[in-house]
Order: sequence, then C-alpha cells, then structure tokens
Amino acid sequence: MEFDRSNHPHRRYNPLTGEWLLVSPHRTKRPWQGQTEEVAANRQPEYDPGCYLCPGNTRSNGSINEKYIDTFVFDNDYPALLEDIPKIKDSSNSLFQIESVRGISRVICYSPKHNFTLPEMPIEDIRKVIDVWSDQVIDLGENYRWVQIFENKGDIMGCSNPHPHGQVWALNTLPNEVFKENSSQADYYIENGSVLLMDYLQAELKENDRIVLENDDWAVLVPFWAVWPFETLLLPKKSVMRLPELNSNQMDNLADILKRILTKYDNLFNISFPYTMGWHGAPNDSSDNSHWLLHAHFHPPLLRSSTVKKFMVGFELMAESQRDFTPEEAAERLRNCSEVHYKICPPE
Ligand code: ZN
Repeated sequence: MEFDRSNHPHRRYNPLTGEWLLVSPHRTKRPWQGQTEEVAANRQPEYDPGCYLCPGNTRSNGSINEKYIDTFVFDNDYPALLEDIPKIKDSSNSLFQIESVRGISRVICYSPKHNFTLPEMPIEDIRKVIDVWSDQVIDLGENYRWVQIFENKGDIMGCSNPHPHGQVWALNTLPNEVFKENSSQADYYIENGSVLLMDYLQAELKENDRIVLENDDWAVLVPFWAVWPFETLLLPKKSVMRLPELNSNQMDNLADILKRILTKYDNLFNISFPYTMGWHGAPNDSSDNSHWLLHAHFHPPLLRSSTVKKFMVGFELMAESQRDFTPEEAAERLRNCSEVHYKICPPE
C-alpha cells in the first residue's frame, strides 16, 4: 500500500511556529451528532440607535461617536491594556515570573453602515480601511514594539456587535504567536539566507495545490499546515515587512484580493462567514528584521456547514491540533466558490 496524504493519517509541520498538526482525512465521513449553531438572521438596519459603534450614538461610558462618513477609530472604553503601569520590582523566582506590560487598545469602525461587512463594501471603501490599518501601525509603532491589528467577526467568534469593525492592540513586548513566528523566521534566515515566507510562497505557486486566489501583488492560500478547516494565509508577492511600506498599487490590490477572498468565504455556506483575522509584520524595533514578510491570517471556525463549528478540545488541547479533511480539499472548495456575493446574486 502506498501512502496517500488525502486518505491516510499523517502529521504536518508548521515552519512558522515550529508546531506539528495531526491530519486525519479518513474521518471526514463520520456522522455529526454534536452541537450546531443557530444561523443568525442577517436582516440588520443600516443604522441602529442601540449600536455603540453607529455614527452619532452615545457609548456606555458617555462618549459620543463622531458622525463619521467612512472610518472611525477610538480608544477602547474597556481596554485590556493600560498605558501607565508601575514597574514590577522583584521577579527573582524563576517559578513565579511576572513582568509589567504597557499598551493601548482601540476600536476601528470600517463603515458607518451598521449592516455592512468588508466583502459587501466597495473596493474604494475597503482601501480606506487598509489606510487606517497602516496609519495605526505608524502611529502606535512609535511607542510600542508590537501593533496587533485584528478582527473578530460573528457571534460564533464571540463578537456580539454586527457593526463592521476590527481592533488594534499595541504593547511593548512580543506576544506568544508573534514571538514564535519571529524566532522561526529568524532561524530560517540564518540557515538559508532567504525569507521563509517568500520561499514558501514560491513553493506554493509552483505546486499550485493550495492557492485560492492571486493578483499582481498578493496571493491567498490554504497553508500546508492549516489547523482551522478553511484557514487561509494572505501573502504579498514582493518583499515587504510592514503595512505602511506598501505602495499605493499594492494597497489597491490588497483591497481587491480582500474583497474577493471574503466574498468566497461568504459564498461557501451562503452566510456572513465568521472568522478571526489578523496582521503580522516586522516588530517596530531597531533590530534587523530582514527575515520578516508581512502577512495576514484568517482563522474561520466553521467546519462542514453554516452551523457546524470546529472545537479545539480533547486531544487538541491536551496533545496537538488536528483536522479532518485536507488543506488541499479546503483550497479546492474555496477556489470553486463564486466571487460574486450571494446577496447580489443569490444561489438558485
Ligand atoms: Zn503570522
């Protein structure tokens, strides 16, 4: 019997984090008897007087939102990080390590329209969101080593407000995931003299099994080591370390590819597709960051329909991450999804 990666259990290595993943493609046929999620009705008004993100509304701390017409950024009313923190005096016991952390968190509204989502927005408006992301990296990067831009979308991801928005958290230290990616990319650079993710993209474009979308400046693929069922990685084709280093063309093409991949996501199950997305770029410090390539991760939790979600429990919490159908199959399903949003062109 010959090994077949679309049929036989195997492990795959993630060179970006140094972690392994268990793939069990033979399990795809097992019956599902677990939890299903309620599909949220997607009938939302354009303006919701009760929404704390809509223009002109008053938030719970009494602040009033600007009557903004495109994007709007404000400091989080309940921030997870604070700017002024006293230094910790003693952390000499290695079993009780503790350090202070300084930071700031902000909310980024993508659009004044309560019922919009990124894939439904015109490309010009998505471009404005990209400009805000870039400006936040410039602004916060002056004082903070790490600026994390991210979005939690959908009830299922714990985001209770459908108003299109993301967040930015900045802190003076590298968080775990970034620390791992930074070390792996640096090690690879020292060993090979080239950038890990640039080499990886070249290899993926050559193999052409997991590429979902491309334009002149960007590619979206399901990584070889994808943990989440329809996880994707968005990579620039030319070497760039941070969002603000993108030129105007690259930003326009980023808006284009974001609209296309997020439309495909929505069309996969004909729902507003939930996910966590985030940007990773070189840290804002004076060290040599030549090993970095800017990229974005999309981690959607949905498994086989709009109501079945992947859980990270049991073996995954206690041993290692696991997936059933292969990343190659996920890429093929995404490739086959239309780039015309189902709300514009409903399925027959
Ligand atoms: Zn990353």
